[in-house]
Amino acid sequence: MAGARKTRAKAAAPRADRAVLFVVSECAPLVKTGGLADVAGSLPSALSEHGCRTRVLLPAYRGLLDLLENGTEVMAIDDLFGGGARVLSGVANGLDCLLLDAPHLYDRDGGPYTGPDRNDWTDNDVRFGALARVGALIGQRGLSDGWRPDIVHGHDWQAGLMPFYLAAGDDRPATVFSIHNIAYQGIFGRETVARLGLPRDRFDPNGFEYYGNLSMLKAGLVGSDMLSTVSETYASELSEPAFGLGMEGIIQKRGRDIQGIVNGIDTALWDPATDPEVSGFTAARLKARRVNRDALIGETGLTISDGPIHSVVSRLTPQKGLDLVLAALPALIESEASLVLLGSGDTALEEGFRDAAKANPGRIAVTIGYDERMAHRIYAGADTVLVPSRFEPCGLTQLYGLRYGALPVVARTGGLADTVIDANTAARRCGVATGFQMVPGSASVMAETFGAVARAFLDRAEWTRMQRNAMKQPVGWDVSARQYRELYDRALLRRA
Ligand code: ADP
Repeated sequence: MAGARKTRAKAAAPRADRAVLFVVSECAPLVKTGGLADVAGSLPSALSEHGCRTRVLLPAYRGLLDLLENGTEVMAIDDLFGGGARVLSGVANGLDCLLLDAPHLYDRDGGPYTGPDRNDWTDNDVRFGALARVGALIGQRGLSDGWRPDIVHGHDWQAGLMPFYLAAGDDRPATVFSIHNIAYQGIFGRETVARLGLPRDRFDPNGFEYYGNLSMLKAGLVGSDMLSTVSETYASELSEPAFGLGMEGIIQKRGRDIQGIVNGIDTALWDPATDPEVSGFTAARLKARRVNRDALIGETGLTISDGPIHSVVSRLTPQKGLDLVLAALPALIESEASLVLLGSGDTALEEGFRDAAKANPGRIAVTIGYDERMAHRIYAGADTVLVPSRFEPCGLTQLYGLRYGALPVVARTGGLADTVIDANTAARRCGVATGFQMVPGSASVMAETFGAVARAFLDRAEWTRMQRNAMKQPVGWDVSARQYRELYDRALLRRA
């Protein structure tokens, strides 16, 4: 969990003519385990430029209520699956938040999805069924302050059941559901249907049943007016079994209703010129970046060699392909490069990287954990950001890398393919390259890429040009926020 860093300055926005409710399980900087939180925390202010007033509904995990300014009760619920609950409205870090205060579900030590033992909470079906149910209640009845959303926008499986809690009829809001990662499907036993008071007649293959179980992700996919996912390439990949992971049939069926809208980042919060965590630099004053590189070397104990400093800031899961980095480490070392890694996740990967650091002191520096501020320092000081994912719906780390002049080295998949201009011959001759793309899923390709990037690093003028291109690449929300606004308008038409 990151502390409040900087409150966004709000420019005068056009009059809001659409009310949007986000239903989401994490939101930066209040609570974050990955990119979903960054999106939920930064898209609302971009949407305000397109006439949308957005409020973000999320669970009041332990400690969150303390971060809410001017919290006011706007809904009370006598019994939300076994305990009383209320919705508190307030502002947190400049965001309009609605916190679902249900202590029996959320007030406990641990993460949003897992307990202190790192296992999933055994009542996650109820914890997130409740979130979806309250999202629907707000959509149907509105809040006691008179606000009622035109559109309810659910994110990932945690919000998937929402459409099934909305009564049918003209009076309901339009619904939009976004897939941030289809690998997480919210699958629970059939007993959850009764536990959550869901309509039994929708427990069938056309509803939320998934091979005898309940899938909350599938509920969102079949029940929502419009769908989106976080890049155009991922949107087309999802209809293939290798990427749809069992959901490809529904994706194909709903093909015309699903739009790929690439993620942006909060360019005010992530600005190398003003970031309080780094020594300021811009594309025009790139020499000043050097201070951050030296600081990163000092902080991580690298004894620097001539090659590039690669970096990884990531969850350590098979999706991210970091086992390929481990397998290709000899090539990294041979290319005179070094590696700074910040991440946590699978025990085997954590151990693998710890061992690699022990075996290569001064060349491989590993920090196991989650550290938002260190992430900023890494993007500002490293020469590259490695994202060798096997699949990647959008990916945000490469966008932060671009913004901070750490050239992304990415697998050609999903949003990585859409956001990095590969340094191929044509791109270099046109002077537009911003990073390096490679074929996904291969340790030998990773090893070759380490060699190729190290050779490119030797050409300082070309490298600097790529850094400038990268830092100037538009990675904010402008275009994508307009696309969401259009999607909302289509959802309203669909409902009507
Ligand atoms: P995903 O959502 O699949 O984890 P993304 O690339 O979309 O991947 O987003 C990851 C986000 O989480 C980025 O903001 C990244 O900086 C951050 N992050 C990941 N791991 C860490 C970590 N160990 N410490 C700090 N930030 C991290």
